[in-house]
Amino acid sequence: MTLSQTIFADWDVSPTIVAFSTTRLGGLSESPFASFNLATHVGDDSQRVASNRALLKEQLPQQLEWQWLDQVHGDDVAVVNKAGATLTADAILTTSSNLVCCVQAADCLPLFVAAVDGTEVAVIHAGWKGLASGVIENTISRMSTSTSSLAVFLGPAIGSCHFEVGAQVRNYFLAASGSPSLVPAMEACFVCSKNPGKYMADLYAIARLKLSALGIDKISGGAYCTHCDDDKFFSYRRDGVTGRMLNAIYIEA
Ligand SMILES: [Zn+2]
Repeated sequence: MTLSQTIFADWDVSPTIVAFSTTRLGGLSESPFASFNLATHVGDDSQRVASNRALLKEQLPQQLEWQWLDQVHGDDVAVVNKAGATLTADAILTTSSNLVCCVQAADCLPLFVAAVDGTEVAVIHAGWKGLASGVIENTISRMSTSTSSLAVFLGPAIGSCHFEVGAQVRNYFLAASGSPSLVPAMEACFVCSKNPGKYMADLYAIARLKLSALGIDKISGGAYCTHCDDDKFFSYRRDGVTGRMLNAIYIEA
């Protein structure tokens, strides 16, 4: 595994902020986790996962501390100033330097959030449930930086080309839109599928809509579909039993 196999956030923030998403390339795990799986909860051999994590750590500054999450598709935010045991939450926020905030995903949307001046960072794991129930809003509300000084990079997630959902999911989002004025824009994030009663949902568009509503206009990323790109990404929707990519952000001391 080399850092050249990793996708770094391409955004206009302080150069002291490092944010990246790993791909499935360059690890030691075997099918169906081939090869750079970083998750311990998916059935992969734990020694291989440990070796994969070690490969990544070797290539980054040794003084970094790593905070991992037990993700539950909820909307809780872990605010940390020192790395510790695995926490149950779907987002991590810190103002400490050298503290790597980690979420894992394989289709769910990872969002990197940073104060453009480099003082505060967060990473969010947004599955559709967390996205609908407010994991983005909760995370932003815990940040001390004003929304006009925040930037967001959208990491690799399943694209609207492959994320088919039922009417129930769409209705859940519409009901949770917040303000009635947002409903038409939310409806536009769901396009009728070729299958009757189904919709193709655009997680990136939903996230952009929610971020804009919060007053965040520096939004980039969102160019990948994890389901389409079998060579580069794990996809839960495509493969069921599979690995997870890591999405990590930290402030360099
Ligand atoms: Zn696709």
